Amino acid sequence: IKFDKIDFAVICALALAVATYLKLDKLKELFSTDDSLVAVHSDSRDIVEVLTENNKDYLVIYASQTGTGEDYAKKFAKELSSKFSLKVMCVDVENYDFDNLNSLPDNVIISIFVSTYGEGDLPDAAIQFEEWLQSLNPGDLDNVKYTLFGLGNSTYEFYNGAAKKTDKLLQEASATLVGTFGLADDGAATTDEDFLAWKDSIFEELKDVLALDEREVGFESSYEYTVLPKDSVDTASLGEPISAYLPGRALSFNDSGKQLGPFDSTHPFVAPITTTKELLKSGDRNCVHAEFDISGSNMKYSTGDHLAVWPSNSDEKVEKFLSTFDLDPDTVFNLKPKDNTIKEPFPVPTTIGSAVRYYLEISGPISRQVFGSLLQYVTDPDVKEKLLVISKDKNKFAKEISSKYFDLTDALLYLSNGQKWSFVPWEFLAETIPHLQPRYYSISSSSSSEKQTIHITAVVENFPNPTDHTLGQVTGVATNLLRHIHLSKTQQDVSDAKLPVHYNLSGPRNLYHNYKLPVHVRRSTFRLPSNPATPVIMIGPGTGVAPFRGFIRERVKFISNNENIKLGKHLLFYGCRDENDFLYQEEWPNYAKVLGDCFELIVAYSRIPSQKKTYVQHRLLEREKEVLDLINQGAFIYVCGDAKGMSQDVHKSLADILQRGKGITEEDAAEILKLFKTSGKYQEDVW
Ligand code: FAD
Repeated sequence: IKFDKIDFAVICALALAVATYLKLDKLKELFSTDDSLVAVHSDSRDIVEVLTENNKDYLVIYASQTGTGEDYAKKFAKELSSKFSLKVMCVDVENYDFDNLNSLPDNVIISIFVSTYGEGDLPDAAIQFEEWLQSLNPGDLDNVKYTLFGLGNSTYEFYNGAAKKTDKLLQEASATLVGTFGLADDGAATTDEDFLAWKDSIFEELKDVLALDEREVGFESSYEYTVLPKDSVDTASLGEPISAYLPGRALSFNDSGKQLGPFDSTHPFVAPITTTKELLKSGDRNCVHAEFDISGSNMKYSTGDHLAVWPSNSDEKVEKFLSTFDLDPDTVFNLKPKDNTIKEPFPVPTTIGSAVRYYLEISGPISRQVFGSLLQYVTDPDVKEKLLVISKDKNKFAKEISSKYFDLTDALLYLSNGQKWSFVPWEFLAETIPHLQPRYYSISSSSSSEKQTIHITAVVENFPNPTDHTLGQVTGVATNLLRHIHLSKTQQDVSDAKLPVHYNLSGPRNLYHNYKLPVHVRRSTFRLPSNPATPVIMIGPGTGVAPFRGFIRERVKFISNNENIKLGKHLLFYGCRDENDFLYQEEWPNYAKVLGDCFELIVAYSRIPSQKKTYVQHRLLEREKEVLDLINQGAFIYVCGDAKGMSQDVHKSLADILQRGKGITEEDAAEILKLFKTSGKYQEDVW
């Protein structure tokens, strides 16, 4: 085809018109080069087409909420391919359509990893996948063979509900389960061991079904690793949360330097932290109130949602890691996926120092499998023997490593008596250590009264190692970062005596300068009843009070605008140790002034000298008659905070109240509460 000048002018005019139509923002989005958004470099969303196009013979899919399910799926896929030479494709369900799944080649098995979230729900990313599962009829998947591993928490009513739902729908569509259905229980802190036991049994099963030969292999990287010249650092990532924030990718900022959205779990907003406060008065424990300014981001939240905060590792942990593995933080490297179905693990090229600080979860508990996989690099016979013995025996591992709160470097230095582990290749660490995940916080502001500001209430994880105090403090990543920000912002002492770990607060290329952090909002279903006359019972000890502060602020705002409307009774059961531990103590009387007798705060103190320990569940029982009356009037019940003990004790008290009040059996009371949960009248936001 030949174009003349007029054709060219017409094409240019058309392009201009399209650009105006789509608006610049949209165009920028379309041409965004953010690698993390691209799961597979193929045009198709059809899972079978992509699998065959890429010549794969095993499929692993995951539906993950916080990244744990993804991490296990990837580990599983990696081991399958290295042990059995399978060509494994491992993908997020969010990125594919499964309509043609039944046309998978006969020899392809699919391994599914599903995390449970909320009331037995599938993760947000699996909405379409769930709709597809629900649309299936008997016989639709009669050619599909699958293995299933669920990640859940037995302290929740709907334990591993999402994986159980997935299994049921697959079975109803005539798919065949291979091996046992694996269930991981975070409530018992056995997720890692549950995975290892299930994986071993599934590998045996797969060996039979697929006639696989096992080979003993060392680590094989999924990426081509290259070291780049040091001067390429100017264009490399220095820890930007996603590559859209890299210099030269001005697509992420508009002309006046504002960040461009839309902001979501794959594209955080770097939010200024405008106010911080210390909420505890005792001095030995800390709880930080932080306010994030989201104005100009177009980001919306509703009262009861969660804020995800993207943290970084502390200087101390980063230095210890670099020194243990003898790594040069300034080395610039690239990771190029060896095949099309794998994406880069984090924005690359980057430096080793940036990857350790911003992208890897270097200080959490370690997996016994990762620990054992280091054996291939050890030559010292004594260290090798110790590593072998501990990594093979789950009880020894629990006693020698987990119970001491060791992170990877602590554990390795303990084995080698302080000798460095310089022989472990960086590629292995970069690929094996899980990614640093955002931390979630129940929003403690109200979207009616604070539209452009999000408050969170974070208790700082910092305590002496319970097994042995000489091992130092156990510190949480995000909460100590928030505390460092608070101390620094309020010009307080940040010496080691006051703060056990310290952070680079200015962030990559000064992106977090002047106290900012990347955040995104996660929608939740934790919502006040829409009818303000409906009574509300809230139970939230400790930081569990966070969303209820938001709820009460919401009601205060509502009443200020609607003076003539009568609110239903709002009871808030709050628990703390003593007066020094009382969160937002000075605020509650102000709310009570506006809400009058529609609001009552009932406090349970658990550590007042010479007084009996009282917890929220005890206070509930003391107010048994009133609680029952409110439930009979259709009250909504909300519980927030500790998933392990508290939410179960509260559940028990509520069941007792119903049992006695209605003269019914324990089973019937439990059934009523279950019904309340499924109908949204009994909501939990527990962690
Ligand atoms: P992390 O680094 O994640 O550590 C977690 C725990 O492990 C800490 O206790 C830490 O001390 C311990 N630990 C650290 N290293 C090791 C090791 N090597 N071995 C064993 N243990 C180790 N928290 C709040 O304070 N307020 C809220 O409103 C709130 N809302 C939440 C809502 C949801 C939906 C969820 C899922 C969680 C919520 N959380 C809330 C918890 C919060 O997300 C974080 O888990 C918490 O703040 C700790 O984060 P961190 O990064 O400081 O600790």
